[in-house]
Amino acid sequence: MATTVKTPQVLPGTTEPNEEVLRQACEKAIAYLAKLDAAPVAATVDRTTLRARLDRPLGEQGIAAEQVIDDLVADVEGGILGTAGGRFFGWVIGGTLPAALAADWLTSAWDQNAGLYATAPAAAVVEEAAGAWLKEILRLPKQASFGLVTGCQMAHATSLAAARHWVLAQHGWDVEEKGLAGGPAIRVLASDQKHGSVMRALRLLGIGRAQVVDIQTDAMDRVVPEALAEELARTPETPTILVLQAGDINTGTCDAFETLIPMAKRHRAWVHVDGAFGLWAAASANHRHMVRGVEDADSWATDGHKWLNVPYDCGYAFVAHPEAHQAAMSWRASYLTHDGEARDAMEWNPEFSRRARGFATYAALRQLGRAGVCDLVERCCRHAKSLGERMGQLPGAELLCEPMLNQALVRFPDPRANATEEDHAKRTDATIAAINATSEAFFTGSTWKGRRVMRISVSNWRTSQEDVDRVVRAVESVLKNRP
Ligand SMILES: *Cc1c(COP(=O)(O)O)cnc(C)c1O
Repeated sequence: MATTVKTPQVLPGTTEPNEEVLRQACEKAIAYLAKLDAAPVAATVDRTTLRARLDRPLGEQGIAAEQVIDDLVADVEGGILGTAGGRFFGWVIGGTLPAALAADWLTSAWDQNAGLYATAPAAAVVEEAAGAWLKEILRLPKQASFGLVTGCQMAHATSLAAARHWVLAQHGWDVEEKGLAGGPAIRVLASDQKHGSVMRALRLLGIGRAQVVDIQTDAMDRVVPEALAEELARTPETPTILVLQAGDINTGTCDAFETLIPMAKRHRAWVHVDGAFGLWAAASANHRHMVRGVEDADSWATDGHKWLNVPYDCGYAFVAHPEAHQAAMSWRASYLTHDGEARDAMEWNPEFSRRARGFATYAALRQLGRAGVCDLVERCCRHAKSLGERMGQLPGAELLCEPMLNQALVRFPDPRANATEEDHAKRTDATIAAINATSEAFFTGSTWKGRRVMRISVSNWRTSQEDVDRVVRAVESVLKNRP
């Protein structure tokens, strides 16, 4: 009987060892970074243009890898924000240290599944080392367990899962076995300035908005101790989690951990700290006082992809009670290969298969060293202070509060005598847009204490004194030319 032999389809480019496309991508990346200083910081093309270029029908047949990369680079042109450069001050966005970027490239080439030691032996040991270094730099307890997760959002989810386990176990309830239904209700006390990622993490964990009590904050966004004391005393028998923050998104301030944590501990509450960027104050002798006492919390969440300048997909969860952390995350199965002696990330992480993201953190920390991390933190704080103060002195601008850590707030009031808060808000937003339109710098707005503000957030290792001077000149010129 005759059989038809199908000719195997050879995908374009897959017969070669791919060297050419990798060299090409490397050259394009280097060329991009080399032009950062001269390139616009904001996007220069709009959504319609990007869709017209990129939203094409997927071909039936594949194309050569080199062509894919050539097209990709051409098609995204103008749609890449200058976040890698030194004049991007929107949100809280870090850059990428050279060693971290290079290690990130290798991470993709090595393509390890870092869920288990068995699937990624070197990655597991690198994470052990990086975790220990991070605890040392952030001055967290040596015995704390940790997980390298995708960002601070998932660091909250991981830490708060441990918290949920622990506060319910204190009341004789095994949440991993029984779930939440029918168990004691959890009460969460949290700064009324908490970041939205805290609420999202709680939501994922089955803890709703109605179970969260906002604790009043002061003029600089710090939890008022008396307000916390009152809430703690209200229902002393309820399983309680307290969420505090190191680094407010607007003011950069940190809660008074030294006062607040012992209060919560007297009520057997679990204290979790959102330290997405603010926890890094601990790395600097000049700023360490801002987080005094933070080491006494039960869990901490922070980012690698913001202030440490590791590429995106990098956050860290630390838990002072490894058994609670492990109880919340661990999963064992007969087909997986667990090694009791080694670190299996699955015991500490919410993911199953995962990127070996420890390599980039390891590389960033080695490139900087302890002194380098300290210098990075201090330099960013210095630049934020100087940007805030110098802009605040320009005619048409106003500094709203003393710059703290790496954040500052300015606004651009409407000069008319009878101007309302709404007029000030309009002028502030229009000025931010005008500054961003110069392509010299990029800022974002926020509403702080009822006032529209421009946030200045400095988290990039590249930001230099020249960048600061250049940005102040650009803002000055925008203000001079405003009608
Ligand atoms: C950025 C940020 C988060 C969320 O972190 P991701 O890394 O974006 O998940 C949480 N809290 C604060 C204060 C932040 O600045």
